[in-house]
Amino acid sequence: MKNKRKPSVFFIGAGPGDPELITVKGRRFLKEADVVVYAGSLIQERALWYAKKRAKIYNSASMTLDEIMKIMVEAVKAGKKVVRLHTGDPTLYSALREQADILEEEGIHYEIVPGVSSAFASAAALKKELTMPEVTQTVIFTRLEGRTPVPEKERLSELAKHNTTICIFLSAGMIDRVVKELKQGYSDNTPVAVVYRATWEDEKIVEGTLKDIARKVKKAKIKRQAMIIIGKTLGQWTATAGSKQRARVKGQKSKLYDKDFKHGYRRKSKMPGGM
Ligand code: SAH
Repeated sequence: MKNKRKPSVFFIGAGPGDPELITVKGRRFLKEADVVVYAGSLIQERALWYAKKRAKIYNSASMTLDEIMKIMVEAVKAGKKVVRLHTGDPTLYSALREQADILEEEGIHYEIVPGVSSAFASAAALKKELTMPEVTQTVIFTRLEGRTPVPEKERLSELAKHNTTICIFLSAGMIDRVVKELKQGYSDNTPVAVVYRATWEDEKIVEGTLKDIARKVKKAKIKRQAMIIIGKTLGQWTATAGSKQRARVKGQKSKLYDKDFKHGYRRKSKMPGGM
């Protein structure tokens, strides 16, 4: 059942970087906040443009969980409205749960406002669709094991065997290991792209294949704040005989817009050309 009590903490997805990519709702709550705690490592100051001038602003980058929670809980107890600003979408790799659990223990109500994940911002930067009929209908969000362990069954080498599209967070600095594990499932010529700071002014895109991506990423000196995406859907274009020609990924067009396919919102088209 939906909790009707008014929240006093809002976890908001700030989006991938471009301040225009926060949602309208997220921006409204940010405008109303008395206290803003933002994850400074990946949120630019310009994301805070929308905050009130007299709002108290804290960068959580150098804080511990206890310090962050103390600020939020004390502010709520003083009757203030708090925004906790996370990069991308707050439900992915944001340490959201541990903060929410403490708020629950304190009896503090909160709301989560989704955001544009860097996975989607990166796909948009690449101008690619992550799913395509008969190529793959699945996207995996994952990361390589670092200090945070990854369950055995979710090893990149295991996930690679499904040949889906995979968006790999937090791993650009370990590109050699990423490639080694991906090779357990994908062929050497599978397209891979790395997007550094998607939607930021210094966004950088490196495209290649499993065979050459590690070299290219190192050459571009990308070590962090980058999304790695692998999958055949990235491969609509290939260079043939020296010129760029459209080489369609072997697959099917979608049924959604197929003129011979009717669904709840459209009868079969009678117009020539299916318009
Ligand atoms: N909640 C965030 C992810 C936080 S984890 C989201 O939904 O996007 C931090 C990782 O996200 C980084 O290591 C990087 O892999 C990715 N990331 C965040 N912002 C990015 C951006 N603008 N461009 C590319 N990758 C980004």
